[in-house]
Amino acid sequence: PPKQRLLVVANRLPVSAVRQGVDTWQLEISVGGLVSALLGVKEFDARWIGWAGVNVQDEIGQKALTKALAEKRCIPVFLDEDIVHQYYNGYCNNILWPLFHYLGLPQEDRLATTRSFQSQFDAYKKANQMFADVVNSHYEDGDVVWCHDYHLMFLPKCLKERNNKMKVGWFLHTPFPSSEIHRMLPSRSELLRSVLAADLVGFHTYDYARHFVSACTRILGLEGTPEGVEDQGKLTRVAAFPIGIDSDRFIRALELPQVMLGVDRLDMIKGIPQKILAFEEFLEENPEWRDKVVLLQIAVPTRTDVPEYQKLTSQVHEIVGRINGRFGTLTTVPIHHLDRSLDFHALCALYAVTDVALVTSVRDGMNLVSYEFVACQDSKKGVLILSEFAGAAQSLGAGAILINPWNISEVAQSIYYALNMPAEEREKRHHHNFTHVTSHTSQEWAATFVSELNDTIVEAQLRT
Ligand code: UDP
Repeated sequence: PPKQRLLVVANRLPVSAVRQGVDTWQLEISVGGLVSALLGVKEFDARWIGWAGVNVQDEIGQKALTKALAEKRCIPVFLDEDIVHQYYNGYCNNILWPLFHYLGLPQEDRLATTRSFQSQFDAYKKANQMFADVVNSHYEDGDVVWCHDYHLMFLPKCLKERNNKMKVGWFLHTPFPSSEIHRMLPSRSELLRSVLAADLVGFHTYDYARHFVSACTRILGLEGTPEGVEDQGKLTRVAAFPIGIDSDRFIRALELPQVMLGVDRLDMIKGIPQKILAFEEFLEENPEWRDKVVLLQIAVPTRTDVPEYQKLTSQVHEIVGRINGRFGTLTTVPIHHLDRSLDFHALCALYAVTDVALVTSVRDGMNLVSYEFVACQDSKKGVLILSEFAGAAQSLGAGAILINPWNISEVAQSIYYALNMPAEEREKRHHHNFTHVTSHTSQEWAATFVSELNDTIVEAQLRT
């Protein structure tokens, strides 16, 4: 079914316009709660009607701005400087805003008869009529017209006078004060009656709604019902509609990619090409992971004068370049490859933020990187993928996922398994490795070896 058409009428459009030339405009998203709340609403075919925040007097400028705004589904209301001064700065922000927030009325406007009050209220009504004229020229049968905030309290009346069938709602984004406050306002009755012309009047909280109904009963002498306010059989529905945010947008913005880490001297024994090719196969087979995971490979330069090592360096660079060219986007690449070493603290920080460590040595005496990773993971409990050809496979084999680095598909599948591993399994595996790493330390190792050596010598002496 086609989406419900919605005309959102607010003082300010969700974009601000800055003039670049006679007929060119630059548009910027404006800041504010209403903009944040409504930009996320996608269920409606919505158009915005409002002031663009600039004074445009010439016809060329107005036409160009109207055209530029149309692309953003915005329709401008052109207000001249004097109206803006009296309506916006004056009546809206100097009178209604402080009053609705219980700050009272400005001193010079205490007397209802002052000319500035009257001329500001006249400008307010005139401005509201100008908004109504723009609404009327874009209105189609069946549209819902949603008027927003204290700037446009006169608008529902203007709209209904012209077309009583129009569906008109009005929502207030500020508090609505106690009727004891509202009754100080010289134009108290006229404003209430204009708002009551709407079909539905909404507030953020039940208290604000109740204050509004009380104002209508006490000041206008109308009847308040649980549904709203009744005037000679005509009901204006009044209710609370607490606003919310586009929470998904915020939650999504915090989703960082999963970090996979490799830390190796750039040496043949480390199986770096195998590791990178396996990562490529993983990306190839799991497109849904492509923008959700990065491989950070720290490749510490070693024996750089030896031609074999130089060849390995260019081979690795070539594969990395190819894969990044294949799966990269304008803003990110899947492999971050660094030909450098890191200091102790930077390395620890990397170990700690890593989700999956990849050790793919084709031969390795022990491999201490795997131990160091485990030591830094006590809060994260990330996964270690470990070559069965590293000495560490003997000690960390029960906690790690063991792989044969020559079997690229097996490594690719292990990456998938590691990234999807449930927290419970990760915890169990990590616990196993952590216990080993913290009980089999280098101090232990050296002490045991030296003590064994001493014992051996003592025993040897005893035998002679
Ligand atoms: N290392 C380092 N800075 C770096 C990368 C590695 O200090 O940028 C250290 C790492 O902490 C580890 C050692 O280098 O202690 C590598 O030891 P491993 O047994 O894993 O491999 P090896 O290089 O001895 O073959």
